[in-house]
Amino acid sequence: VPLILTEFLDRAVQLYGEKPAIIDEDWTLTYRELNARVNQLSRGLESLGVKKGDKVAYLAPNSTEMLEGFYGVFQLGAVMTPLNTRLKPGDYRFILEHSESKVLLVDHTLLPLVQEVVEDLPSIEKVIVHGDPSKEGYESWLSQFSPDRFERATIEETDIASLLYTSGTTGNPKGVLLSHRSNYLHALSSMHHLRVSDQDTLLHVLPMFHVNGWGSPFYYTANGATQVMLRKTDPQLIVDKVEKHKVSVLHMAPTVLNMVIGAYEEKQPSIDHEVRVVIAGSAPPPAFVRKVEEDLKWKFVQVYGMTEISPLITTSELRSMDVDRPAEERYRLKAKAGYSMIGSQVKVVDELGEEVPSDGTSIGEIVTKSNNVMEGYYKNVEATHEAIRDGWLHTGDMAVVDDGGNIEIVDRKKDVIISGGENISSIEVEAALYEHPSILEAAVVAVPDEKWGEVPHAVVVVKEGETLSEEEVILFCREKLAHFKAPKSVTFIEELPKTASGKIQKVVIRKKFWKDQN
Ligand code: ATP
Ligand code: MG
Repeated sequence: VPLILTEFLDRAVQLYGEKPAIIDEDWTLTYRELNARVNQLSRGLESLGVKKGDKVAYLAPNSTEMLEGFYGVFQLGAVMTPLNTRLKPGDYRFILEHSESKVLLVDHTLLPLVQEVVEDLPSIEKVIVHGDPSKEGYESWLSQFSPDRFERATIEETDIASLLYTSGTTGNPKGVLLSHRSNYLHALSSMHHLRVSDQDTLLHVLPMFHVNGWGSPFYYTANGATQVMLRKTDPQLIVDKVEKHKVSVLHMAPTVLNMVIGAYEEKQPSIDHEVRVVIAGSAPPPAFVRKVEEDLKWKFVQVYGMTEISPLITTSELRSMDVDRPAEERYRLKAKAGYSMIGSQVKVVDELGEEVPSDGTSIGEIVTKSNNVMEGYYKNVEATHEAIRDGWLHTGDMAVVDDGGNIEIVDRKKDVIISGGENISSIEVEAALYEHPSILEAAVVAVPDEKWGEVPHAVVVVKEGETLSEEEVILFCREKLAHFKAPKSVTFIEELPKTASGKIQKVVIRKKFWKDQN
């Protein structure tokens, strides 16, 4: 059987046809109803001339329209190209042009973001607006088409299913081509490791337009789980929906999870059912894991991945022999990226491609040979060859690994500071800065130094109403860190530059302080 993503919906319809597939505000759809809309959508797109291989762009919050879009597009053998909802008009122009998207489906609340851009883009042939009640709008357009079984395009498992753009944390966003096969095998691996079942109710917190939220609709659909849509990332709304729909599983960023903890503390509702697991990336500290598991009483699992690998390749789910360890040890384990998932070999290697010693201290780059790996970057052969060498995808993330194969992310390769031959993790220095009660945000970058080659420089945002001197910051870090790791200089600024998904853009900061760096 070829590994095609439409199989997941077929299975759900067959086994769970009358079960709620989607809860979206006050709208509930069964899997059978979802399937009918998917068929209508495929026919609608076909009527607009969308063919196999064409890109269909989506600019929408997590919603019924977005989820049905996945399968509606796949039935045609077309390529789903979701857009981040927090970009600037110039970014939309870049992505829509670069992807040559033929049709754009956009939520009416987001239309103003792209209205001007699409007017003069020749590749876009049609714009369809979700939530627009007029005759031109999505619902009335959809209703013209038959909900009956759709005669699908012939799809090979190596055909491209999605073109997703990276976050642009380290430069321009790159278009990542993922095949049906990669997405499918990623889903199989993830549903196993996250123990997904038809008893699950998922709250879609992570935006589906981003790879972290992108993969999950496949494995929750395949298992007939109920998927609750969150159209706006609001912590109070998350708490309300978790309680109301008895949510069992959530994927979200630690920053949002932190706000949810705050919202719970404020409201103190009785938590009368258990969230089975909350899944997050971004290496939060063990103290954070403790907060989640003890205050919220939600089980925590960390995962690691990137757009180029569909995205997940490691998980910190505990092995049975670790479950009875003391709480502190368990939280420390869960704060790491964890172990490789089925279908992905993961190694930590030095500059020559040799594995570094598994001693928990030797730093190397994470490389992976995985079923989930992309076909390549769209229209960028050079970057593809740079990323995939001898079959190993080079992640650009630096890590240490212990003798049991447990991986801990140290830093991005581009962000490591090499001072007098020593590697300094910018993340470690930042963690020390964040311990200072007056510091709101901080980023640490390398600046050139005659004696040491590079030295750490801190860029700090001070909390409102507080003051801090350069010397105070440096002395504070020297108490917490080895002297050579403490910043040698400090700049205070109002706000750190960030990507649309909230990641700090050190590339922008570095350019300010080290002109010829990228
Ligand atoms: P770009 O590639 O455009 O610079 P990006 O790398 O931020 O942007 P994504 O693919 O969205 O784009 O993010 C993947 C990156 O996120 C990883 O390479 C890694 O640096 C970081 N990351 C993911 N999971 C974790 C984790 N568990 N711990 C630490 N960092 C993580
Ligand atoms: Mg990246």
